[in-house]
Amino acid sequence: MIVRRRWTAAATTAILISAVLSHPGPGTAAPAAPATPITLSTTETAVVRVQLRDQAQLDRLVAAGADLANRPRARDGRILADLVLSGAQLAELTAQGATAVQIVQRAGDGSRHYAESVRAAEARTAAGLRAPAADQRTTTAAAVDTLQVQQAYWWTTGGQTFLQAQVATTATDDPDVEITVSWRTADGATGSFPLYRFEDSGEYQYHYNLPQPVPNRPVQLTATSSLGGTSRVVTPALWPNASPPPLPAGYQKDFIDAYLTPVDIQARIKRLARQYRDLVDVIDLPNKTQGYRRTAAAYLGDPAVAAVVVESVRFGDQSMNGVQVRTVDPGRRNRPLTVGYRDRVLTVSLATDTAGKTVSTTDEVAAAINARQPNRFRATVEDGSTGLPMPVAGPARLDDGLQGTEVPAKPWTVQALRLGVHRDGSRVGVLAYSQEHAREWATPLVTLEFAERMLANARTDPATRELLEQVDVFVIPTVNPDGANYSFNDFNFQRKNLVNHCTGPARDPKNRTSWGVDINRNYTVGSYFDGYVGASANCLSGNYAGTAELSEAESRNVVALAQTHPNIKFAMNVHSYGGYFMWPPGAYRADGRVTLPRPSIDESKMFLDSARRIVGAIAQERGTVTWPSQTGPVADVLYSAAGNSADQLYYELGIFAWDFEVGNDRWNPATGEWEGVGFQPPFDEAHGESQEYAGGLIELVRVARDYAAAQPAG
Ligand SMILES: [Zn+2]
Repeated sequence: MIVRRRWTAAATTAILISAVLSHPGPGTAAPAAPATPITLSTTETAVVRVQLRDQAQLDRLVAAGADLANRPRARDGRILADLVLSGAQLAELTAQGATAVQIVQRAGDGSRHYAESVRAAEARTAAGLRAPAADQRTTTAAAVDTLQVQQAYWWTTGGQTFLQAQVATTATDDPDVEITVSWRTADGATGSFPLYRFEDSGEYQYHYNLPQPVPNRPVQLTATSSLGGTSRVVTPALWPNASPPPLPAGYQKDFIDAYLTPVDIQARIKRLARQYRDLVDVIDLPNKTQGYRRTAAAYLGDPAVAAVVVESVRFGDQSMNGVQVRTVDPGRRNRPLTVGYRDRVLTVSLATDTAGKTVSTTDEVAAAINARQPNRFRATVEDGSTGLPMPVAGPARLDDGLQGTEVPAKPWTVQALRLGVHRDGSRVGVLAYSQEHAREWATPLVTLEFAERMLANARTDPATRELLEQVDVFVIPTVNPDGANYSFNDFNFQRKNLVNHCTGPARDPKNRTSWGVDINRNYTVGSYFDGYVGASANCLSGNYAGTAELSEAESRNVVALAQTHPNIKFAMNVHSYGGYFMWPPGAYRADGRVTLPRPSIDESKMFLDSARRIVGAIAQERGTVTWPSQTGPVADVLYSAAGNSADQLYYELGIFAWDFEVGNDRWNPATGEWEGVGFQPPFDEAHGESQEYAGGLIELVRVARDYAAAQPAG
């Protein structure tokens, strides 16, 4: 997920907004204000689908650190975006003319959905039952301009047929051109709908729409423009028009019956290795992460009046939680400022004047702590307390604030599963990796369901056995376990890892939920450091790129695995949510929207043809169809994501590297709206995502097998 513009340096305030996946749709009908106004308490945080007033409002959010997962799309000068924000921030936006249209996920929803999923799994185990099947939906004048229909696709899902079109006008510079699509179905019904202009980085791209419901298979489509232009009559094509082989009788699936924490995932990896010894290696990736740890901190003084933030140099669990800090009045005249540490108490004795009055300032106290106790503590004047008289305060106890009790507080070894009959590099390799972003809880469910399906069926299904004969499969279920532990135990909207690179006032513990590095912006190709769009230099931003390319253990691990196994030719980076299927280029430069090099015609065809197969396989489970408008190069269908891992694997290592955003919007026939599912939906939805996208990964393995078989023998 990504911002569209470079961070503006002034914004060192706490991150206002972290936007998430959505496709604010020019196509949907203007969402009416909900009957009951959507409100949040001042301190509650939620994912909210917001209709912004105008582009300027979006630009201000982005400048304040918005982490936009969708490309902003204007409709009647308005924009829909899913934003992570507090009630106070929502109120501020509303006062500025924005309208909340859907609460996608409340803060408490994540832990409630997790607890519900675990309880239900325990109940099923007690009853000797497996997980519930996924939601069962059937698969089943003289014209001034000229119009070209670039795409027209239809499909049926859940008994409803949809139509989506993309049309370009030659009047590219006229922002007021209106384009209308008219359709006719096989049984003679007709209708029309408007398209909306899509610009990216200030340049006209095309007009398009979200999928529109139609009563039957459309057989004819034309577009007309307000300038008098018309298109040729076209026949919409069936999307994706590819189906995987049917599942054989007795095919085993449904191995996921609850959300999985990193500790659960570790146990699952161990169990799979034990159960399928002949088919599995566990690879310990070389770079241990920081672990579920943080420094301990306290306010010395009152942040509302005057305070110094005192922080331990070591992590809180390294005997620093509970350490006390205080300032004292020496009670004598003409005393110097002194700092002492004894019996786990840091005591700052304030300087006094000739009358015996304390005279030390906040800055002097912070400087004295840093000078006298550099190995134990670092101190920063609280933002807003600079130069103020330091009060007598404390004792305050340092604390890391971490709530998780079942997470080992030590560096974490990230693990990969390697599956295959021949795990010697002689077969083409496929890499599936998930949870670069901590809050995307459904994503390891996808990769683990995929891994276990391959292993379990290799014993009973000859076709699966053959796949594992021909393909060497690598799976990293959780790339970012520290962030994931934090997401499960402390702050469910955590996206980044737990490494805090902030300096100065940004280290104030009030910013705790904004620290960390966006792993999927920390790679070396088309990076922020190279001048590409969609990452930030601000340590509090949702897509902070880190201190340098590959500054983080998590990203180095992905690169290390791919480099060590040069037989890997295919990769899938699994994210949530929104229902996208994408490939390089994933980034462009700000000036002129110059993307990373486009794949060759042959490679582009490989990406698209394979994508159609994989989209077809995803649809096999419960009819979910990833829209054609959300299938394509990242930079075209989503946004620019500087320094992402798929670009790294493709441009540096020559791997066909894709991204999933699992968790497609669901059609609500009652309201006629597409609705976002969020990062941590009720478990039934997450379970459905795991089943359908695991099927997509298995089709990726077939793609790899077919690719290898077509290569000249060497
Ligand atoms: Zn993500």
